[in-house]
Amino acid sequence: MYDLANSKDISDTQRYQAIDAAHHINAFLDQKALNQEGPRVMVKGRGVHLWDSDGKQYLDGMSGLWCTNIGYGRQDLIKAAANQMDELSYYNLFFHTTHPAVNELSERLFELLPGQFSHVIYTNSGSESNEVLIRTVRRYWDVVGKPSKKIFIGRHNGYHGSTVGSASLGGMKFMHEMGDLPIPGVVHIGEPYWYAHGGELSPAEFGLQCARELETKILELGADNVAAFVAEPFQGAGGMIFPPESYWPEIQRICRQYDVLLCADEVIGGFGRTGEWFAHQHFGFEPDTISIAKGLTSGYVPMGGLVLSRRIGAALVEHGGVFAHGLTYSGHPVAAAVALANLDALDKEGIVEQTRNDTGPYLQKSLREVFGQHPLIGEIQGTGLVAALQFCENKESRKRFENESDLTWACRTHGFDEGVIIRSTLGRMVMAPALVITRAEIDQLVEKTRRAVDRTARDLGLL
Ligand code: PMP
Repeated sequence: MYDLANSKDISDTQRYQAIDAAHHINAFLDQKALNQEGPRVMVKGRGVHLWDSDGKQYLDGMSGLWCTNIGYGRQDLIKAAANQMDELSYYNLFFHTTHPAVNELSERLFELLPGQFSHVIYTNSGSESNEVLIRTVRRYWDVVGKPSKKIFIGRHNGYHGSTVGSASLGGMKFMHEMGDLPIPGVVHIGEPYWYAHGGELSPAEFGLQCARELETKILELGADNVAAFVAEPFQGAGGMIFPPESYWPEIQRICRQYDVLLCADEVIGGFGRTGEWFAHQHFGFEPDTISIAKGLTSGYVPMGGLVLSRRIGAALVEHGGVFAHGLTYSGHPVAAAVALANLDALDKEGIVEQTRNDTGPYLQKSLREVFGQHPLIGEIQGTGLVAALQFCENKESRKRFENESDLTWACRTHGFDEGVIIRSTLGRMVMAPALVITRAEIDQLVEKTRRAVDRTARDLGLL
């Protein structure tokens, strides 16, 4: 490792890598292994492009962590932050106060949300939105006189964040194994991952079977004890899995029948990703809550929220009494001003419509043309500007590689060499570029991805 005390002779890249190794425990990786290699140092972003500290340019096919929906370097968002910092850099929503920025944002947000939603509790991240979800849903059932409704049902491989409550709602086994999760009162059902678990069933049959697991679980626990079902409309970190079309209508029916709240985690799906403002609109169901973050500010500053339906919002307000909950930075004025500028830009520039009608279909068509017959790719899923390529060993039997995570990780590394950032999740390569991507940039994204996938196929002797 470099000697920081005598850092004159080392490059910026080496210096940052040395500081990183000395002081950071980074996300979801083996820090000891990373320290041998040193992380890439990203220094600049413009539109869908990034540059590292060695001057190498990348097409960011993942919009950061599925969050820079408006792209990097937007002057309108930058100015909104600077103006708000100048005017009122901080105030809060505690003790009978509010401020203009958060109210301007909420007015705009509820113009964009479907009419069944009325209230929001702002947070600083997706994990926090889901922490707040647990307490808010339990508070709701308390105030409507059903305090026994406490249990949350999540899904295996669902991802809802990294804090204790949100990681419990999520179904990542390897996360649960670290630190005795899930917390009591959270259980999980299977994921609607037809390619992996559908066997001989058609996707439609499998979708129904998965949804009915929810019914079985509710009956087993007793509907009087079940507070909510929590899921991502399409699964993100757990492999970018789109459920069969039969899935969501059946889930909706079951939640209504047993009076179980349907909680959509739209931290990835919200703000245009699927070509609709919110992903549940694409799948055609009506949740009771929506967890938001990421695309709300396009990642320029941290901000999230828990959006509540009129039914929940009205119950909490009408009941009266203190909901003992609050975050110092809930509705932070700078974050709110940036979010408002971001929503304005997404809306006024027609970026969501463009995703739905033009760039989204173009990406989906291009991927199917290029990878439809590829020996390594068994399934292509996605809509709008989010897509996944499923690696497979045998297309007929849908057999997956035993070391699929290693293979997709290698593909991701080839991608970096080719100048594209695509993500590996289990056996799938995932892309979710900023929604401002042009057709020409989509051509580059698909071509660079093809080269990365071909290199992986060549490693396996398949090409
Ligand atoms: N929910 C979903 C669906 C997510 O994808 C994520 C993050 N990838 C989170 C919650 C957690 O968000 P954060 O990292 O902002 O806490």
